[in-house]
Amino acid sequence: MEYRCVQCGFGIKKLYVQYSPGNIRLMKCENCKAVADEYVECELMILLIDLILHKTKAYRHLIHNALNQETGECKGLLWKSALGFLALDAYRCLLLEMARERWDSSMSFSSVTWTYVKILVDVFLGNLFLFCLLLLMMRISFTIPVGFSRHKDFILAILVSSYFKLFLLAMMIWEFPLSVVFIIDLFVLSSNAMALKVITESTMEKCIGACFTAHAAKFFVSHLLKWCFA
Ligand SMILES: [Zn+2]
Repeated sequence: MEYRCVQCGFGIKKLYVQYSPGNIRLMKCENCKAVADEYVECELMILLIDLILHKTKAYRHLIHNALNQETGECKGLLWKSALGFLALDAYRCLLLEMARERWDSSMSFSSVTWTYVKILVDVFLGNLFLFCLLLLMMRISFTIPVGFSRHKDFILAILVSSYFKLFLLAMMIWEFPLSVVFIIDLFVLSSNAMALKVITESTMEKCIGACFTAHAAKFFVSHLLKWCFA
């Protein structure tokens, strides 16, 4: 079973049958008898709105059907999303650093370089802890579904579900209070918990607990590094 029904999570071989270009028939789920994945016919904007609204079926479509590695359509997506994720996280650290120390033209080249080195170490170690803890908790306290045992699928789901980080780009254009960075962090955490819930079919409380622990560890590592560098 390559795909999943977005309503109940039951496995399904095909989402639709194509008769001719543009003429398709959506398949029904054998378990709940509903259309297995109506997002196949939906505009991307509708999926995006449902993802922002944290609808379980939108996350099921994204993780099980749209990011299906078996189809080969998502080749290289892991590396591209990892690079995008790390770049956005580095930009987040830069925003916090710029707020902490006033940046102006009087800053020396060496102090700017040193700040960039600190940001790179922070991003690398912080995210290493985040993903290692999430993978560890996934192994220990969650039931891993059949066909989703590979670390690659799980990491990709967490990276893609961190799409709220893209809102940081708006801070390049418009000026926002620094609290917006932390609000985005909260949305990333809740979105990661939704992804974890859809993968493991666990309770939302357990998934929020796991994501909160991993994000708290990242926050702690980041503060420990600031203390070491000071
Ligand atoms: Zn179903």
